[in-house]
Parts: sequence; structure tokens; C-alpha cells
Amino acid sequence: KCSPQDSSMNATGVRMVTRSRSRGPGAGPRGGGEKAAPLWKGEAAAEGRKSPSPSRHRRKTQKLNVAYDREEEDTKPPRAPSWEPRDWRQQLLNIRAMRSGKDAPVDWLGVEHCYDSDAPPKVRRYQVLLSLMLSSQTKDQVTAGAMQRLRARGLTVDSILQTDDSTLGTLIYPVGFWRSKVKYIKQTSAILQQRYGGDIPDSVAELVALPGVGPKMAHLAMAVAWGTVSGIAVDTHVHRIANRLGWTKTATNSPEKTRAALEEWLPRELWGEINGLLVGFGQQTCLPVHPRCQGCLNRTLCPAARGL
Ligand code: SF4
Repeated sequence: KCSPQDSSMNATGVRMVTRSRSRGPGAGPRGGGEKAAPLWKGEAAAEGRKSPSPSRHRRKTQKLNVAYDREEEDTKPPRAPSWEPRDWRQQLLNIRAMRSGKDAPVDWLGVEHCYDSDAPPKVRRYQVLLSLMLSSQTKDQVTAGAMQRLRARGLTVDSILQTDDSTLGTLIYPVGFWRSKVKYIKQTSAILQQRYGGDIPDSVAELVALPGVGPKMAHLAMAVAWGTVSGIAVDTHVHRIANRLGWTKTATNSPEKTRAALEEWLPRELWGEINGLLVGFGQQTCLPVHPRCQGCLNRTLCPAARGL
């Protein structure tokens, strides 16, 4: 079973991309008692990961420096958003208070807790990506069970490629869309072996190009596996709650539109926190059907409360 002891990476502890990636996500508030084992590029290089070509690496580094340059951050005031929800700060404080127990399924079964912390870094990163692929349309408990069965056999790119489809299906069942996921996991694993030396790519663009990997998974993989906050990871919980609270300027009809709407106004330093915070809130209080508004600290501030 996935457990807090298994974890060494932590999405809430990640920091924004800056010039240096010298600190790990394990330092975050949800990482209490966890071994710090950040999966940084330096670590990848040290273990002989296939490096991108020098020119490609230089391009990527420059791009990151331009986007998140520390001096620029220091000298230029942050751009004020043209719009922000009226009560969002108090609503956020209330959700943090309601989530202070950290006792939702995502808090002990989420992606930060489903990889083998004793495995080599690139294996851990692969396990992070795999658990994210399994997690779509699937409860955390079911994803955790599938990961446990896969890990019991040694979960690496090679071991998956050597496993026949029927056996892989048996191992991951009953995750949602398990037949399609068998296909995607095999295809993605083959690509990772051929192009990335068994590691996972370190950009959202390359991650979403993998079969079965969507934007939410890519942003979470960047955060948990690489320690880089690349965007807000919006799943069905974040999408639903953002709309109920009026955190999008107009109603949105897809997680991707919600992500874009949130990134318009939410301060970047909060991007890494939002997913875990709202997923747990959605699992315990702001349920998809029959949300527990009576016990919610936001009931007087929530535009949706009266209509539910
Ligand atoms: S008041 Fe109800 S709908 Fe609004 S955030 Fe709370 S639980 Fe969700």
C-alpha cells in the first residue's frame, strides 16, 4: 500500500522554476518525516541519464532563466491581474483550515506516496508518471492498489515492456479505462526507453506528447518528479470547486479552460499548492454530488452554496 513513509517527493513543497534547481520538493509542509530525495537534473546527470544535446540544453536553460529570472523578479513588481475573485483570499484560508488535518485520501494515497523511494531517481520519476496515468478516472485507493501490485514485481520501464498486455491488465484492474491504459502505458514506456534512456522528459510539451498523458498529469509530473511548478494541475475536483467558488471569471466547461482561467489571476507562488488542497477538499467536503455545505467554512462566501 502506498504510505507516507514511501514518499520523498512532495508537490506542495515544490518551488517555482528559478535559475537554480538546487532545492528539492521534499522540504514542503506535507513532507513531514519524509526522506528528502528530490529528483533534480543534477541527480539525473550523475546517474548517467541521456542528456539532451548541448544546444538543446542551452536553449531550455535560457528559456527558464528568461521566464523566471530572479533579478527580474526582484526588480519588477508582479503584474496585478486585471480581475480576481472577490473573496478568494478568505476562501483559500478557509479551505486551508478545513484541510489542516491532512486526512483526505489524496494525503496518503496521492501520487507523492505511490513510488518506491528506494529506487533510483529515474525509476522513481517513471513510477510517478505511471501512477498519474493510472489515476485518471480512478479513486486514489484503486490507483494505490494497482501501484502496489506493479511495484511488487519491480516497476521499471523494462519490466513493463517485458510484461504481456494480459498480465498488465490483470495487475492494474480495476483502474478506470484499464484496457486503454495498458495500451498507453506500453506505448509510453517504449518511447521513454527509446528516446529518454528510461527516464521521463522534463517539459510539459514533451510529457503531453506521450500517449495517455494529459496536461494535468504533465504539470503534476513536473512538480512531483522534477520539482518544477509549470502550471496549475487541474483535475475534476479543482475544476468543479473553482467554478463553484467563482474562481473563474466566467463558467468554464473543461479542466484546461479552468487552468487557464486560474493562471490568469492566482499568484504563481500558490500554483503548486492548489491541486492537493482542492482535491482533498473535494474528497471530503465539496463533494461532486451533495457537497457538505452546512459544515463548510465558505458557506457564506460561496456563490454556489445556495443553489446546491
Ligand atoms: S459552500 Fe458548499 S459548494 Fe461552496 S465550497 Fe463549501 S462545500 Fe463547496
